[in-house]
Amino acid sequence: MRILVVEDEQILQDQLVEKLKHAGYVVDAAGDGEEGLYYGREYDYDAAVIDLGLPKLDGIDLITTLRNEKRSFPVLVLTARGHWQDKVHGLEAGADDYLTKPFQMEELLARLNALMRRAAGHASPVLREGELQLDTAKKEVRVEDALVELTAYEYKVLEYLMMNASRVVSKTELTEHLYDQDFDRDSNVIEVFVGRLRKKLEPINPIRTVRGQGYRFNVETTA
Ligand code: CA
Repeated sequence: MRILVVEDEQILQDQLVEKLKHAGYVVDAAGDGEEGLYYGREYDYDAAVIDLGLPKLDGIDLITTLRNEKRSFPVLVLTARGHWQDKVHGLEAGADDYLTKPFQMEELLARLNALMRRAAGHASPVLREGELQLDTAKKEVRVEDALVELTAYEYKVLEYLMMNASRVVSKTELTEHLYDQDFDRDSNVIEVFVGRLRKKLEPINPIRTVRGQGYRFNVETTA
């Protein structure tokens, strides 16, 4: 999952990036609204954390512009204490949730997780498809109730495919959403992860290969 952080307070931006990366997300950080808009147009994010008080282009204008351009990823806004009107303006501009500074990183992570889940149509933190369960809070996967030991990247591949279950996901898209820019972007790596994942998920086989296009999550078995 790839997340955009737009925050001009450098210390807070660094903390956000560190926590989000530690939680397994790919993160791009911008220090002003214009840079945030550049990133927002450049990549298809799974969510964004946007401070409302930003230089060059303020948070409200940034969100309004992104929404006008049909960028629909979930947005969590950060507001200053005592500025309750900001929350209203942020939500009216198209934000999905807000946090007032100062906040606990654990709360930010929980809210982001919930936003991305709901955007993917899942009300519960545990995604269930047939005999497969994926717990987005604990980052645990079970098949027929038995815990499956996955590496962090195998988990991320499965989570991303489940979150986007209604469509085909290309290897390029998986790479963009799961790896930092400095990671060696080799689509063969994705094939290796998917291959290992399939083995570990047996006897079910929820990941279909769509020739020339990518992968599609589907638990139904075809005869
Ligand atoms: Ca600020």
